[in-house]
Amino acid sequence: MTPKAPGKPIAPLVSGILDALGEDRQRDGLLRTPERVEKALRFLTSGYTVDIDKIVNNAVFEVKYDEMVIVKDIEFFSMCEHHMLPFYGKIHVAYLARDKVIGLSKLPRIVDAFSRRLQIQERLTQQVAQCINDVLNPLGVGVVAEAQHFCMMMRGVEKQHSGTVTSAMLGDFRNKETRDEFLSLIRPR
Ligand SMILES: [Zn+2]
Repeated sequence: MTPKAPGKPIAPLVSGILDALGEDRQRDGLLRTPERVEKALRFLTSGYTVDIDKIVNNAVFEVKYDEMVIVKDIEFFSMCEHHMLPFYGKIHVAYLARDKVIGLSKLPRIVDAFSRRLQIQERLTQQVAQCINDVLNPLGVGVVAEAQHFCMMMRGVEKQHSGTVTSAMLGDFRNKETRDEFLSLIRPR
């Protein structure tokens, strides 16, 4: 899943795209565009090289706590792998601790690590859930992502207000009662 040959310069390829679009690359506004696009793309795909162990290091605590932990409304920005256009929205994360909890500020960083890649929303949702499952070995994990996709909003069907919701439920969150509790707690009020 990690791209094979990072390091090949992107800027010349962007110049080629500008040419193909019939743009005049010498005009002021475009002079540094290839370099800017390269920098942006490197950042927007920087999640591939994030070391999850480093993120969670020193932030997992042994605790006697067996209630649901929920962090709602974690903003994320990602890029759809089909069109390389942004999709963005909110991710809600919950887990039922077995004997470990994680510092709450780490959950958004885990979300960033998986959203700063070429993604599809379904896989992003799964990967965040699986990562928390691996790190905490909890009784269960629930993740719900609500997103708007530029590839739908700006082109194609042009349904500007359609949102896409995906979920991943692991362990106890496959039980109706736990899942319903989670879903009712993240419902906007
Ligand atoms: Zn797309």
